[in-house]
Amino acid sequence: MPGRPHASTAKSSSSFTTNAYSSISAAPNAVGDPSRPPGLVVVTFRILVGAGLGFYFFVVFCIARASLGGFGMSTFLFLKCAAVSLIMGAFMVWLAPFLELPEIWYRHRLPSKRLARGECPDCGYPRAPGTTRCAECGSERNSPPPWQFGARTIRLFAIVATVSFVAGCGVALAWIAADERAFVREASLARGAYSRERAWPMQFAPLAIDDAGTLSAPTIAIEGERDPNWRPRRPTGNVE
Ligand SMILES: [Zn+2]
Repeated sequence: MPGRPHASTAKSSSSFTTNAYSSISAAPNAVGDPSRPPGLVVVTFRILVGAGLGFYFFVVFCIARASLGGFGMSTFLFLKCAAVSLIMGAFMVWLAPFLELPEIWYRHRLPSKRLARGECPDCGYPRAPGTTRCAECGSERNSPPPWQFGARTIRLFAIVATVSFVAGCGVALAWIAADERAFVREASLARGAYSRERAWPMQFAPLAIDDAGTLSAPTIAIEGERDPNWRPRRPTGNVE
């Protein structure tokens, strides 16, 4: 970084090493973040969490579509399935802090461990007893910066969740359409009434075609009938 002031500790014979270091990492006393996690770790981690979320949306969308019954996809059905996926997505909000695990580790946990070992929290160089300033990087930090849940975490989660939602629903649409196309092909080979389960994860819902060639996929209802005379009872032997 040309033109940027180096660590002010660069005075004596150690100036070469200090300069070499500060040209690699950010100058310690600048506004930059010395304990920033490696970009590859951050990107890989977010992709993994996003993929997990996308898979969740895919499964929810497929199950919603199969439960609603019928063959093919209309705008109304699509909106219904997307709405169900969105509502079910609320259960995944707890993943928001999880997305920032690399930051929590590199900015908080790792500096804490280094301090506990008597090392500089920013670069890990052993700190001489009684000193408050790192001889290597010049950091004067004596406690790790705390991790805080805030607008940044929510914004990050919103971005990852939106991409996962769109991808999950899109893949589910293609998956359901491919399964139904495959069913029509199989039915034409079967020549007559034919029925089978939908593809994973919708095996609970059947697809069928009758002798007249009418395609059908029944709405999945909860089995069994409710007894209208049933009333909750007090446990016996527990009368007050
Ligand atoms: Zn240091």
